[in-house]
Amino acid sequence: MKIEKTKVAILGATGSVGQKFIELLLNHPWFEIAELAASERSAGKTFGEATNWVMHTPLPDKIRDTIVILSSPESVKSKVVFSAMDASVAGPIEEEFARNGHVVISNARNHRYDADVPLIIPEVNYEHLAVLEAQNYKGCIITNPNCSTIGLTLALKPLQDKFGIEAVNIVTMQAISGAGYPGLSAMDMIDNVVPFIGGEEAKMEIEPLKILGNLIDNKFVNAEIKISAQCNRVSVIDGHLECVQIKLKKKASIEEVKKAFVEFTSEPQRLELPSAPKPPIKYFEEENYPQPKLHRNLGKGMTVSVGRLRECSLFDYKFVVLSHNTIRGAAGGTILIAEMLKSKNII
Ligand code: NAP
Repeated sequence: MKIEKTKVAILGATGSVGQKFIELLLNHPWFEIAELAASERSAGKTFGEATNWVMHTPLPDKIRDTIVILSSPESVKSKVVFSAMDASVAGPIEEEFARNGHVVISNARNHRYDADVPLIIPEVNYEHLAVLEAQNYKGCIITNPNCSTIGLTLALKPLQDKFGIEAVNIVTMQAISGAGYPGLSAMDMIDNVVPFIGGEEAKMEIEPLKILGNLIDNKFVNAEIKISAQCNRVSVIDGHLECVQIKLKKKASIEEVKKAFVEFTSEPQRLELPSAPKPPIKYFEEENYPQPKLHRNLGKGMTVSVGRLRECSLFDYKFVVLSHNTIRGAAGGTILIAEMLKSKNII
């Protein structure tokens, strides 16, 4: 069946996540880039003039020559907008778009905790999209979680479903591209680890509770899990690695935990959505896997890798999670949400 392509706009197209959106949407079977929008600094310039293209694939002429428009509902015609705007400005601009009838799917943190805004990882909680009927916008706002939360929560989902989770401790090693472009200076990052990422630990401790929680009568009831996170910036370009310790509610053998990872599949895979990796979680037996350089691009950057599962003397088990921060953790994850919306006739 040939699906008619939906025209989309990218807000914040010039940034690190915006560029990844362009790269992923160039040959997308369901979506077509119609507009590129950014700030006043870029509006009116060609995309080539406004940005320093840092993706690994060449910048197509068609995109280079596109005139960047202002990220405002007066300038943007496409009904569906992917937001990759800086969080310092995204909140009110996204609301204006939603009030004007646009479907806003956002990477920014601003609306993630709104009582009527779903925070979606399609494999984990696509059912939360039902809350959209409670929104008062002419359009709607849907959010994508923080990049390190996405990898973690996708790995937690099969364990939460099968055994319940009491507590989680995480230590992250996060890639430089997570800080946007141009991000941190080489002087800060070469030969170094920075043991602080502003706001990141709080996001990792709060967001999984909403995502793994329930939607009851259009109200979110958070999951009851104790989470503690420590976040570090390391000298890797893409791919967040996370060391996770977990205490389960119900006793499980290591084989049962492994089986839960290996057998996990969900609605995006059943629907065969174009960006849905099969399987969503790749479980590694090798004692030194997963690694960012080797495994971040599995499943076109959408697979979450898990390995090093072993018993923990403080909690029940410990393991390592890897996910690509600008693909699964940002642009790719948002596109998968849009695919889910399209397959459920919401757009
Ligand atoms: P970035 O590289 O700094 O890009 C920021 C974008 O926001 C640029 O396109 C910029 O346009 C635009 N912008 C700034 N002020 C604006 C305004 N007043 N109106 C409209 N657009 C404006 O940041 P990023 O890393 O791509 O992150 C984008 C968003 O995604 C952030 O909210 C971030 O927290 C979130 N996120 C990032 C990652 C990641 O791994 N990098 C992962 C998950 C979520 P100009 O070029 O015109 O200034």
